Amino acid sequence: MNPVILIVEDEPAIADTLTWTLTSEGFAPCHVSTGGAALARIEQGGVAVVVLDVGLPDLSGFEVCRRIRAKDAALPVMFLTARSEEIDRVLGFEIGADDYVAKPFSPREVAARLRVMLRRAGVLAAPALQAAPLLALDEAAAQVRAGSHSLALTRYEYLLLRHLMQQPNRVFSREQLLDAVWGQDSDSTDRTVDAHIKTLRAKLRAVSAELDPIQTHRGLGYSFAP
Ligand code: CA
Repeated sequence: MNPVILIVEDEPAIADTLTWTLTSEGFAPCHVSTGGAALARIEQGGVAVVVLDVGLPDLSGFEVCRRIRAKDAALPVMFLTARSEEIDRVLGFEIGADDYVAKPFSPREVAARLRVMLRRAGVLAAPALQAAPLLALDEAAAQVRAGSHSLALTRYEYLLLRHLMQQPNRVFSREQLLDAVWGQDSDSTDRTVDAHIKTLRAKLRAVSAELDPIQTHRGLGYSFAP
């Protein structure tokens, strides 16, 4: 499903960046430049969440939010704010915002926060209900597959993941992983293990945001939770 995200922003560069990012993340953004157009669009129905700039050419974002709230107390609103005094007002709860981001912001972060808001509003399924693809070790092919997707791993990433997967839920210290994967002769350090865990996690999450099977045990090491 493609929830409609209404972007209310009068700066074309910001609106374009947001529209592009949200589209690439599977949302259906709809952009308007004024408060009046925003209220008219919401009136038509189907808007799942509003991303609302505070400084608009006609009504202020605060006024737009007030008018939205007067009609629909549940429609989630995320403010885009440029100044700290705006943030104070947004956070003061008098406005009824659900979240805010301060400009300049990362469009990916906006997308991630919107996803959280939509889950909270029940528009998107909770992550627990979305099954992450199953990881499968193919030792003959020296590959790990996530669902139908073959992970593009370096030699050491593969060996490290294989070692963890072969004994699920067992906690390995960094030294044990170094010995098992890099061997005794290597001049690798604990940080080598951490760096490879980090890239492994990034590759797994790139397949699915829910795919995060490597657990960190502080002061102990790492384990694989299937
Ligand atoms: Ca503005």
